Amino acid sequence: MPEPQHRLVLSLIAAATLLPLALAVRAAQRGPDQVRAITSYVDAHNAEALALLERIVNINSGTRNFDGVREVGRVLRAELDKLGFMTSWVDGASWQRAGHLVARRAGSTPGAARVVLIGHLDTVFERDSPFQKFERVGRTEARGPGIIDMKGGDVVLLQALKALAAAGALDDLNVSVVLTGDEEAPGRPLAASRAALVDAARGVAAAIGFEDGPGDPRFANTYFNMSQGAGETRGSWNQGENWDFVSDREKQMAVDGGSGEAEVRLPAKDVDVLKQMAERTMSDPNIDPPTGAELGMGNPTLADGMTVQPGAQPSPGAPKLH
Ligand SMILES: [Zn+2]
Repeated sequence: MPEPQHRLVLSLIAAATLLPLALAVRAAQRGPDQVRAITSYVDAHNAEALALLERIVNINSGTRNFDGVREVGRVLRAELDKLGFMTSWVDGASWQRAGHLVARRAGSTPGAARVVLIGHLDTVFERDSPFQKFERVGRTEARGPGIIDMKGGDVVLLQALKALAAAGALDDLNVSVVLTGDEEAPGRPLAASRAALVDAARGVAAAIGFEDGPGDPRFANTYFNMSQGAGETRGSWNQGENWDFVSDREKQMAVDGGSGEAEVRLPAKDVDVLKQMAERTMSDPNIDPPTGAELGMGNPTLADGMTVQPGAQPSPGAPKLH
C-alpha cells in the first residue's frame, strides 16, 4: 500500500506483537505463564527491535532499487536463519522485480497449526527521493521512508517469532514467512510475481499480514466484530485475555475519533484549495442530461451516433467536455 504517513509510534511494536502471540498461544492452549514470558521478551528486547528497524529503514529499497530490496532481504534473512528457519531468495527476474524472501520452519508439536506471516521489503521511496533516513522525532516516535509501510511491520513480525521462540512456543506452529519485494508496484505477470505467496498460503489455518493499522496503539489488540448474525465464528485469532472484543454497534463507530460520518479533517492550508475544487466541479442544477439507462433504451440518434429516449435531450446549457 502507498505510504499514508511516515511516523511510527514506537510502542506499537510491543502492542501489535500481541496479535500473533495470542494466536500461537491459543493454538497450543498454553497458560498465562507462557503469555507473560512472551510479552516480557517483547518488552526486554524493544531497543534491539528498534535498532533493526533503523538499520533497514536506512537501506533504500524502493521497488525498482533491486539491490536495496535484496539487501533488506539479506538482513531479515539472517534473523530468520538464527531462529532455525529454512530460508530462500526467490529471484524476481521473470517478473522484472528483485524477488521475495521466503522462510519456513516446521514445528515439532503434534498437530502444530500452519500459519503464514506476510510482509514486504520494498517501499515507495526510490533512490531519487529526498526522503531517505530514519530519524527519532521524540522519545516515542520516529520517522523514515517505509517505516510504517512496512518495515515496522516486518520487525514486529520478526519480534513476534523471537518472543515465541524464547518462550518455547515456536514449535507449536508450522510457520511460513513471505516478504515480497514488489508489493508497492507488483511485477507482471501476477501469476508469477504472486506464486510464492499463493503457494505458502495454501491450506494454512491463518494468514496474518503485518502492514500498518490506523497507527493508534489502542487498536492493536481490539477486534471489531462486524460480521454479526447467523454463522458467526470465534476462534484463536480474536479471543483470549489480550483481546478487547467489541460487538456493540455503537462502540464500533468512528474508532479514529471522528463523527462516524463521511468527513475528513483538513489542515487550514488545504481548505481554500478544496473550496475552489468544489466550485469548479459543482453541477448545474438546471441541466437534465440523459442518464446511462436512458441512453441504453432510447430511440433518437444524437449527432455522435448515441441514441436517447424522447424527452431526454441534453439541455442547451449542458457543459461541454474537452
Ligand atoms: Zn505496504
